[in-house]
Amino acid sequence: MSNSVEYQQSGSVAVITLNDLPVNSLGLDLRTRLLELFRSAVADSSVTSILITGTGRMFCAGADISEFDNGKALTSPLIPEVFNEIDACPKPVVAGVNGAALGGGLELALACDYRYAHPDAKLGLPEVNLGIIPGAGGTQRLPRVTNLKVAMDVILTGKPIKAGKAERLGIVDRIATGSDFLTGAIEYTRVQTVSKNSSDQIVDFKGNDRSHLEDMLKSLHPVREQSKLACAKALDIACTHNLEDGLKMEWALFKECHESPQSRALQHLFFAQRQATKVPGLEKTTLPRAIKSVAVIGAGLMGGGIAMNFANAGIPVKMLEVKKPALEKGLASIQSVYESAVRKEKMSHSQAEMCNSLISGTLDYQDLADVDLVIEAVFESMDVKRQVFSRLDEVCKPGCILASNTSTLDLNEIAAVTKRPQDVVGLHFFSPAHIMKLLEIVRGKETSNEALATALQVSRLIGKQPVVVGVCYGFVGNRMVAPYSREAFRMVLEGAAPEQVDQVLTEFGMAMGVISMGDMAGIDVGCAAAEANADEWKGDPSYQALQFKLKELGRLGQKTGHGVYIYQGREKINDPETITLSVELAEKHNIERREIGQDEIRKRCMYALINEGARVLEEGIANRSSDIDLIYTNGYGFPSWRGGPMQYADEIGLARVVAGLNHYRESLGEYGELWFKPAPLLERLAKEGKSFKDFQP
Ligand code: NAD
Repeated sequence: MSNSVEYQQSGSVAVITLNDLPVNSLGLDLRTRLLELFRSAVADSSVTSILITGTGRMFCAGADISEFDNGKALTSPLIPEVFNEIDACPKPVVAGVNGAALGGGLELALACDYRYAHPDAKLGLPEVNLGIIPGAGGTQRLPRVTNLKVAMDVILTGKPIKAGKAERLGIVDRIATGSDFLTGAIEYTRVQTVSKNSSDQIVDFKGNDRSHLEDMLKSLHPVREQSKLACAKALDIACTHNLEDGLKMEWALFKECHESPQSRALQHLFFAQRQATKVPGLEKTTLPRAIKSVAVIGAGLMGGGIAMNFANAGIPVKMLEVKKPALEKGLASIQSVYESAVRKEKMSHSQAEMCNSLISGTLDYQDLADVDLVIEAVFESMDVKRQVFSRLDEVCKPGCILASNTSTLDLNEIAAVTKRPQDVVGLHFFSPAHIMKLLEIVRGKETSNEALATALQVSRLIGKQPVVVGVCYGFVGNRMVAPYSREAFRMVLEGAAPEQVDQVLTEFGMAMGVISMGDMAGIDVGCAAAEANADEWKGDPSYQALQFKLKELGRLGQKTGHGVYIYQGREKINDPETITLSVELAEKHNIERREIGQDEIRKRCMYALINEGARVLEEGIANRSSDIDLIYTNGYGFPSWRGGPMQYADEIGLARVVAGLNHYRESLGEYGELWFKPAPLLERLAKEGKSFKDFQP
């Protein structure tokens, strides 16, 4: 038997310590041993009370979710069985919450009679974020220990709370005060004489908490918010059933959620986040350089947002512009973002002032001589970027990291104008840059491991989700948008209304339809991107024909109040003129107009996206399919409950995606032949019955 759980006795107190670092998860071995030692303590007549605690900084991080995939989690003793036995124990049992108690960890603590917590401990039930519900009593015991309102907050948000707050809410009974946590916990346990059983407690709900829960049950979306809905159902059960029945029904709901595509999707993203920082060829031993000061070149839309990220993390930023008015305008918009954050109570006045004061402006490159990192965010023009980088190369100190926020341009070409291409990296932020979580870190052919490690460290400093990608036109995210958007706009020429296309995409779960996204980003921006990448579409004269026409008419999207749609204030209005233009363009390009169904819109847009994802993967631009999924769920509004485009493809089966592509390849004639050839990697994986997840470069 392993020593994943240890036992000692201190006078009349049995001390059972979870000792399976780093996280003390409730794997089969740990829970078997926990139960065995717990039974010994119960049977030992010299023991009057029992303390369950943990080693390290973690009380217990809950179930080992990978166990569910190999069936071990369903091997007896099941986690709920262990907890039920602890709850029913005739001797008082104390949870000594020495550190984080998350998921099953908090459920273990709730099965104990008392909770004695370290002041730094965090307690939470994050299951809802993984597409499941707390399945080991959390939904039944938490509302009994506290009340319905608190349980709804903790379970439905999935957010952990600090020990002090947990004490105020009645989840924790006592916060440790002395310097020796264990001694305090043992003393607290020694004086407990009363054992409680959750089945004797009923759920306390006051005022309109019950009707609030009932409203939620009616309003939550059965597919998109499946696990939230299951949590709400379980809480409703806690209000109406005894503990024994409630626990059985909770377990049934848990299993139902766990077997759903949504939980697979959310768990895929959970592991994807951890994987993303493991970069092939980058050793853990590579030390990042210290970043204590930053400069941003260009005080436009992106430059301002980028600067705020660093100021918000307490790092001083110098913003450089060529001309004073542009600099003043940039600094003024930053100030107004902070003022608005104060008005919306997202920041205190003093916090906003402090952050704003960390950003200073300059027109002089010499002022950048001592910064540790420069991020360029000037116009998307190779000539301008090359000029900026040669100037930076002259003035910046050796070891300074030179980064570009380019969305599409060749980073290697930019790096080549410097004498230190090893220190050049892409840091591709997404707009609005101070809010969007995603950061594509572009690894150029000469980027050193140290520069890469520093970029990853920077992303941690400013709270971004990093994904390391290779150099190609548009990197991963924007490159994949091109075929996705191409299909959407092409179908408008073929007869679909723009609003119909956008609606299918939002019903699929996208935060926004790709046609509306084009209006938001700027029709001119889309046209410039297409022009810069003209070789890719030279066989298709209809490519972006509608956007080029709109640009010619000065309809540049939201910024001019008119693009595909008309914008009046915040209102978006369908424009019949767009249909007239589409009919004319269809005629010009010999495209037969017809009625297009929802199914075709969804499949053509999604399959085009997935097919490009397969190419990106095969070319090594993305390191793994889950990296692509992180990019799409964090930067492009792809629904996380579907796990990203590649996970969606894996879920429906790659053979089905290939069959779908081949169907359009045949049915759309020349156009189909040009654009719907399945990517070789996709075809190969489908033939072998594999998924994108199986792909190892
Ligand atoms: P913008 O036009 O809002 O800002 C560019 C700023 O750079 C302007 O203030 C301009 O005065 C300044 N500038 C131009 N040349 C300069 C020079 N030589 N030295 C110093 N300053 C100079 O553009 P933006 O939308 O902020 O885009 C900037 C970069 O970020 C581009 O490379 C773009 O592709 C990229 N990007 C944009 C977005 C987006 O959604 N807008 C998203 C990701 C990346």
